[in-house]
Amino acid sequence: MNGRLHAAEGIEIGRKALDLMASLGLVPTPHNYAVFTAYVSDTIPELCTVIQSHIDRDQPLSSELLEDLYDTHFSFKRIQSAVLDAGGAMSRELGSVVQTLQDAERDTAAYGAELAGATGRLDKVTDATGIKQMVEGLVAATARMQRRSRDLERRLQETSQEVNQLRSNLEKVREEAMTDALTGIANRKRFDESMRKSRRDADLNGTPFSLVLCDIDHFKRFNDTWGHQTGDQIIRFVSACLARYASDHHVVARYGGEEFGIVMPNTSLEDAKAIAEKIRNVVESKRLLRKSTNEDLGNITISMGVSQFRPSEVVECLIERCDANLYKSKQNGRNRVTMDGDALPNRQGIAAA
Ligand code: GH3
Ligand code: MG
Ligand code: MG
Repeated sequence: MNGRLHAAEGIEIGRKALDLMASLGLVPTPHNYAVFTAYVSDTIPELCTVIQSHIDRDQPLSSELLEDLYDTHFSFKRIQSAVLDAGGAMSRELGSVVQTLQDAERDTAAYGAELAGATGRLDKVTDATGIKQMVEGLVAATARMQRRSRDLERRLQETSQEVNQLRSNLEKVREEAMTDALTGIANRKRFDESMRKSRRDADLNGTPFSLVLCDIDHFKRFNDTWGHQTGDQIIRFVSACLARYASDHHVVARYGGEEFGIVMPNTSLEDAKAIAEKIRNVVESKRLLRKSTNEDLGNITISMGVSQFRPSEVVECLIERCDANLYKSKQNGRNRVTMDGDALPNRQGIAAA
């Protein structure tokens, strides 16, 4: 169902969406409402397929899945349309400036012709009245030209303001497209971009480049015990710790659900590990209270892997190695940092890989 909706149709769709959400036991948040009206009105095929398959298999639609659907189909659409709007506005603005410049060019040529004509006629005019008429004509043409120049200047000034505004809007949209909505840190897209850039720079300049990957320990338990909202609070807390202790030139990103990465150009393995240890320590030492009820959430810990880029290796290899280090941290009891070359401590009888 494309195109405009009539009011009655819109109300019917909204009602169906609300009924369906109620029958599935879902809260009609604005995001859920957007997802379900799209489903009921059959406007986004991919979204419909996902929801339909869950309903058919009687599988619950988790709030995480619904948020994912919303992010994929609505945030992106909004960004896309913001870019298209900005592009259209910019093109209209430039078209109108080109028109103004062409008008000015035509007037300048006419003014030039008037001056040249007057120069030619000057020799032939002998009486005072003739000269007076010519001077008056030239004064009027000059005044027109001055007005035109002022208009042109004003118009150009307006355009430059307009273009600056559009540029800053686009910059904001771009920033939003690279930011994780829950935590405000970089998202996976920016992580991937900065990994590629840091790899290129390290290869080119021979500078060390390190990567830290981090995963919250037993996070599922927190979610199951305290609910998704509190889980989100923990994700925000850990991301804030990472952002606080990483350097300004590092890129701290949410890599996946409760996994994070810090891209560290110009940083040695040892320095990267020291930062990771600091963060691990801070996370472990803080006591978090559940926002809604002030209950003590107990200890939150994280496991980390640290690796340094090896000349010419591809980004995927570096990530894999770092992920293997993170996995070792998990295997060796969690709440620890493992870097390239670390021996497996095999503590407390936990089997080493
Ligand atoms: P481990 O110590 O081995 O990492 O155990 P874990 O329980 O953390 O294991 P796992 O990585 O498999 O669990 C991640 C869970 O994170 C599963 C998923 O439901 C949850 N999750 C992923 N994204 C989000 C989110 O945005 N918010 C919340 N609240 N939970 C999320
Ligand atoms: Mg995980
Ligand atoms: Mg985990």
